Amino acid sequence: MSVVIIHSERFAEHQTPPGHPERPERADVMDVVAARWGERGIDVVAPPPATRDQLARVHDDAYLDLIENTAGRAVKLDPDTYTSPESYEIALLAAGAAVEAVDRVMKGPHRAAMALVRPPGHHAERDRAMGFCLYNNVAVAAAHARARGAATVAIVDYDVHHGNGTQHIFESDPSVLYISTHQYPYYPGTGAAEEVGRDAGRGFTVNLPLEVGAVDNDYHLVFNEVIVPVLREFAPELLIVSAGFDAHERDPLGGMRLTTPAFAAMTMALRAVAEQSGHGRIVCVTEGGYDLQALAASIDAVTETLNQPAAEPRWPVNTMASTRGRAAADAAKRALRPSWQFR
Ligand SMILES: [Zn+2]
Repeated sequence: MSVVIIHSERFAEHQTPPGHPERPERADVMDVVAARWGERGIDVVAPPPATRDQLARVHDDAYLDLIENTAGRAVKLDPDTYTSPESYEIALLAAGAAVEAVDRVMKGPHRAAMALVRPPGHHAERDRAMGFCLYNNVAVAAAHARARGAATVAIVDYDVHHGNGTQHIFESDPSVLYISTHQYPYYPGTGAAEEVGRDAGRGFTVNLPLEVGAVDNDYHLVFNEVIVPVLREFAPELLIVSAGFDAHERDPLGGMRLTTPAFAAMTMALRAVAEQSGHGRIVCVTEGGYDLQALAASIDAVTETLNQPAAEPRWPVNTMASTRGRAAADAAKRALRPSWQFR
């Protein structure tokens, strides 16, 4: 069964100040990619806005009021997070797209969904906008899947930044596994290997902090040695991907050196897990990615991966040493034993 794309041409209406990297042109890229897939016969679906109840599963009421009150106004919410008059409505559509993606793969016939959205979401905390993010789209989606009856959900976040908001929202919840690869130390400062969750959720937060300059081989190593083994053991009924593309070698914010085929390989590795434990159910939701050319190519490669039958991931072959991946994998294994079995 083919992939379904959730996208709205309205995502360009969320305006940011001149020079801001999370700019409306990112939505234009998404429009072009979505239109091209539509011409190929792939379903492209417009999202409904997220409802207050859906958002309230992961955000505080006072915070929802605060964002609602920015409707029609330009407000600075945090040193790099702004609204324009339309932002409230557009942020509702971004979270709504993530929810729609979950609904589509849980009721079928589609098993894979790609939500092309902005603003991104993974830095948004329960009670605070942060790092270009208003609502935590992926967290809203995971909570929605749980409410719809999925017993276990895994979120894998390969954005170059750590998803502090997503981690904090689910850190005490053993039914939602959060796994992140990210540049470290780097914004937002969280994501050390020793952050493994708390209380009943201990062991269900997995951080792979990678030193700046990590290459495809580093990601290949941490996927093989930590991410895939943990996911296989956890066996999620639904897999959600925080699909940020700012670890791409062309990205102006991130300092990593991933190539476009590596994004396809990471996504294919996750598909294989979803095939085993979740009847193939996988949802990708865009996060960062600030070079427009890399963003277009990476979204396209990931969508292509979701549209193909599950197969062995094809990691790019190169000779770069994976020292950064080795360090991150070893630190994560040390922090996570005995919660998970590692070779
Ligand atoms: Zn990012």
